[in-house]
Amino acid sequence: MWRWKCCQRPSSWYRKRYDNLRHESLRASVETSPLAIYAINPAGIVTLWNSAAERLFGIKCSEILGSSLPWVTGAGGDAIRDLREKILAGNSVHDIQVAWKRGGRTPREISMSAAPLRGSGDTIVGILITCTDITDIKATSQALEVQLHFMRELLEVIPNPIFYRGAGGRYIGFNRAWEEFFGVRREDWIGKTPGDKYGGGNAARFEIAEAEVLLSGKTAAAEEVIVDAAGVDRHIVKQISRFTSPNGTPAGIIGVLTDITAFKQAEEALRASEGRFQALTESAMDIVSVLDRDGRILYQSPSVRHLLGFEPQDMIGLNQFDMVHSNDAERLRAAFHELVENGTLDKPVEFRVRAQNGEWRNLEAIGKNCLDIPAVGGIIVNMRDVTDRRVIEERIQHLAFHDALTGLPNRLLIQDRISQAISRSQRTGQKFAVMFIDIDNFKNINDTLGHDAGDDLLRGVAERLTESVRAHDTIARQGGDEFIVLLDEIEGHGVATRVAQKILDALRAPFKVAELVQHVSGSIGLALYPDDGRDAATLLKNADTAMFHGKDLGKNTYQFFTPQMNIAVKRRATMESNLRAAVKQGDFSLVYQPQIDLNTGEIVALEALVRWLSEESGTMMPSEFIPLAEETGLISELGRWVLLESCRQNKAWQDMGLPPRRIAVNLSARQLMDKGFIDSVARILAETGLDPRYLELEITESQVMRQGEGSVMLLNQIADMGIHIAVDDFGTGYSSLSYLKRLPIGTLKIDQSFIRDMTVDPNDTAIVVAIINMAKSLDLQIVAEGIETAGQLALLRAQGCGVGQGFCFSVPLSAKDIEPMLAKHSVFADMQRA
Ligand code: C2E
Ligand code: CA
Ligand code: CA
Repeated sequence: MWRWKCCQRPSSWYRKRYDNLRHESLRASVETSPLAIYAINPAGIVTLWNSAAERLFGIKCSEILGSSLPWVTGAGGDAIRDLREKILAGNSVHDIQVAWKRGGRTPREISMSAAPLRGSGDTIVGILITCTDITDIKATSQALEVQLHFMRELLEVIPNPIFYRGAGGRYIGFNRAWEEFFGVRREDWIGKTPGDKYGGGNAARFEIAEAEVLLSGKTAAAEEVIVDAAGVDRHIVKQISRFTSPNGTPAGIIGVLTDITAFKQAEEALRASEGRFQALTESAMDIVSVLDRDGRILYQSPSVRHLLGFEPQDMIGLNQFDMVHSNDAERLRAAFHELVENGTLDKPVEFRVRAQNGEWRNLEAIGKNCLDIPAVGGIIVNMRDVTDRRVIEERIQHLAFHDALTGLPNRLLIQDRISQAISRSQRTGQKFAVMFIDIDNFKNINDTLGHDAGDDLLRGVAERLTESVRAHDTIARQGGDEFIVLLDEIEGHGVATRVAQKILDALRAPFKVAELVQHVSGSIGLALYPDDGRDAATLLKNADTAMFHGKDLGKNTYQFFTPQMNIAVKRRATMESNLRAAVKQGDFSLVYQPQIDLNTGEIVALEALVRWLSEESGTMMPSEFIPLAEETGLISELGRWVLLESCRQNKAWQDMGLPPRRIAVNLSARQLMDKGFIDSVARILAETGLDPRYLELEITESQVMRQGEGSVMLLNQIADMGIHIAVDDFGTGYSSLSYLKRLPIGTLKIDQSFIRDMTVDPNDTAIVVAIINMAKSLDLQIVAEGIETAGQLALLRAQGCGVGQGFCFSVPLSAKDIEPMLAKHSVFADMQRA
């Protein structure tokens, strides 16, 4: 501010002098002032104008002195006039910034201050104005401000958190990213030290690094894990550099944080996926190879070691095709070509590869062309070892065409072989034969000894058949106890006959089944191509027919097919359906044949024998239908009826007052096998009221023997009921005496074949005598069957045979016809009469 300094010193001279001096020095200082100074009187007339004003405004003092200011009259003059009024009212103004422009000169920014000029008595006599040209200063400060602003903005937009600290270690500033990263306000941290932020221990670590940076001017970087605003661990790289003051002295540290968490995670994921890939290929069961476009191996997974026995590294550079089976190479090349061209394979390709041990392994491969994928740069081939699957498939194939029990070809396969033989025969003109073989007494063995024994026997038969034919002949099991043989390329009946006989002989040798010696025989039917059929089905059917025919003729034979046989087959089929109907309708009757005490002529027992009263064929004998009834299972029902009727009749005779006698009933093996047999016998006895001791069951020698331990139990149960047991047809089978002894047998019936010839054949006599003596020693009753002549009777009597049965006493008679005889004491009187 400008002040007139007033001096109270009185002397007028001094005063004048002083005034002059003051005036002069004032003038000089105004004149030399770098500030533009001018003054106006209240009327606006310029009264003072220094040289700085001349320079600033470009107006000479001489021009303006005594005139009014040009800008007061110009535009904006009003504001200046207002200002003038204000100052004239006694106020001062400071630093009023105005823009000033005159003529063609560049506009200037001027800072203006003004104060009233006071005359004597403090009256305001004018206005003193000082002006400074601030155009350049303002421009410079504005430029700086822009720059600063830009720098600040720049800092704010940088996504990395940034901090800077002074040389004393206190935070000076942060950017927005920093604020956001840590979730704090920068104001709270400015002026603090890292020690405040991280705690002393950590801060010390920074200080050492930062001191070094501050000193050396080098940049340092370190990786750290920092907890962010969300409390999540972030991997960061902290880079610190120093900044200097304008004179180059170190002024502080700038730190820039770069968040590398995502990168770290990606890196981790990549590492994991790489590890996974490696583990996968290394532990895969499949072989993974990468091949070049020519099939050379670029990569080989270690699985090749356990699958093929090769070391993976030894395979590199080899050509895959060199290891492939020559028969598969072309197919594999085609598939590989498809891979190279199309990128993938339609379906897996299978081929054989030789393993290190020389074995061929079946591999199934799929592939993907990755030639264009730089990380792979080849064709990935995935190969699976399917050798075991192949083996299983072949096994399944084998099972489909072979019999599980014997391993022989089955019906399907032999049909196919026969068809092939037909084609061959059509070319060569050679004949061939189809043979149908049935094991005669298999059903009995199976029924009495059980299925396991039956299976054993079938396996044994299969073996013998195999040994009996030539290598190129085919043997198949048709099912059950039936076998088929294809005798290929034979001249005619001659070879077929020889082979058939050989088979019959082979079967006749005893088999050991279930610890027992078993005797079987076979029946064979033969059909020749082309005479007996032109296709497989006809040949098989006719061979079957011939076989049945042979069976009817007495088993253990072979028969060539003849057209007449078909007629017999038809008859048999008719008979079967008739028998079925007869069993249903009960078209049967019983006849009775007495058993005579050879000493007294008394009837001691009666044997019940069944007859079929057939509408078509009249009365039929058991031999004509019992085998069929056994085969078809009808025997169970028929046998039950026979037993019931026998018991009923015997009780009826007793009720008539006739002397009580045993009734002997024949049993089939099949009946003994029936589960409810014992119950059914008990029921019949209860129903008819017959005392069990008047019932005798006849079973054949072979039946007893075959049933083994099972029969011991069963027969004991029967005997325990009080029923007698007789062994029928004794001498025709193969009994072991010790075995007989263990069974609850009461009677042996000597087979009629021995009796028939005993008067002429000394061998038979010897057998009969032996049997009689043995029975005596075992304390068994003896019944001689089929006594027809007085000679036979005499001989038997002489040998001490107790009981006899035969036409010489009586043929089997109906219940009615035999009744008169039953009332008699002895049959001898009638015989003598006859
Ligand atoms: P089998 O048990 O040996 O019966 C005796 C057979 O010899 C009877 O034949 C009988 O008529 C016959 N016969 C009796 N005396 C003489 C004789 O002096 N000379 C000759 N040549 N034959 C004589 P049939 O009735 O034809 O019975 C044959 C076979 O049928 C029986 O032999 C028996 O095994 C079986 N059979 C008969 N009835 C039944 C039955 O109801 N059930 C079962 N499962 N089989 C029966
Ligand atoms: Ca009998
Ligand atoms: Ca008999």
